[in-house]
Amino acid sequence: MIDLVIIGGGPSAFSAAIYASRAGLSVQIFEKSAMGGMIATSDWVENYPGFEDGISGVELSQKMRKQAEKFGANIDYGDVTSIEEFENGVKIIVDGSELKSKFALIASGNTYRKLGLDKEEELFGRGVHSCATCDGAFYEGKNIITVGGGDSAVQETIFLSRFAKKIYLLVRGDFRAQSVLLSRLDKLVKTGKVEVLKGTEISEILTKDTDFGQKVYGVKTVGNNELTIEAEGIFEFIGLIPNTDFLKDSGVLLNDRSEVIVNDIFQTNKKRIFASGDVVQNAEKQAVVAVATGAKAAIEIAKIYHNE
Ligand code: NDP
Repeated sequence: MIDLVIIGGGPSAFSAAIYASRAGLSVQIFEKSAMGGMIATSDWVENYPGFEDGISGVELSQKMRKQAEKFGANIDYGDVTSIEEFENGVKIIVDGSELKSKFALIASGNTYRKLGLDKEEELFGRGVHSCATCDGAFYEGKNIITVGGGDSAVQETIFLSRFAKKIYLLVRGDFRAQSVLLSRLDKLVKTGKVEVLKGTEISEILTKDTDFGQKVYGVKTVGNNELTIEAEGIFEFIGLIPNTDFLKDSGVLLNDRSEVIVNDIFQTNKKRIFASGDVVQNAEKQAVVAVATGAKAAIEIAKIYHNE
């Protein structure tokens, strides 16, 4: 039986793996989609301690992964579809097969929320995007639209301005981003590179047929500005949804936003199942916090493990 299975492959998972492996536990990480978690989609991280000039999100997550592997953690892709506590362990279904471990750590993070517009799903990755680092370079010299008023929308709009000819930033209400990001955005607004449209939402994605299928050529908006905006790409940064679907039959308690409820040692209501990082209730959604909570959970798991 494995000592600890960690569900998720982001900073919190890697940090927990470092601490648990180093404490002598056998550790298996399963990541369902993109290894590295959300930080790996961030172009540049400038508030992670220890890197005074900043570091790319990909490099930061790769360093964490290597460090976890150095201490012996196994890191694989695998889709965990259910977990269930039993008397002395946790039963985990991964890629359809059953696995048993003494403890489990839920570090499954979040996925990007979508607008829910017609054609949005079919155009995803081909005109509609959520990852500026992954897809921004396709829009060199083109007009794009960004959506959202939080830190992600402002930070990624600033990043995308290095490629785009012009960016229309649509904010449905008012900004809620940090002032340091807003003042950087303001400089781009003054140059005309970015135009902010507050109180404005997309009502329709406009497409045209090409030899390669449907292509985005703009949007219609409603609210304070009823416009037709011509742009080839739409980048949505409208918040996050916790990856907790696989917990629906686990008995693990979630709050009304589907985030995992934990106590002060990051233990859920099931004593062998812990949770850390962005999936936990009221998490700050900062890599450094995710790393800290992963470490704390692993330390507490190791204490119980060594006392059994
Ligand atoms: P947030 O939840 O903070 O913001 C979401 C934004 O999207 C809000 O402006 C919200 O508007 C808007 N929105 C939600 N649904 C819709 C919709 N259907 N149509 C239009 N707009 C919509 O999400 P973020 O991804 O920006 O940030 C998540 C977390 O990550 C935060 O805690 C943030 O601080 C953190 N973060 C920190 C960074 C940093 O420190 N540099 C960088 C990036 C993220 P409304 O206000 O009207 O609800």
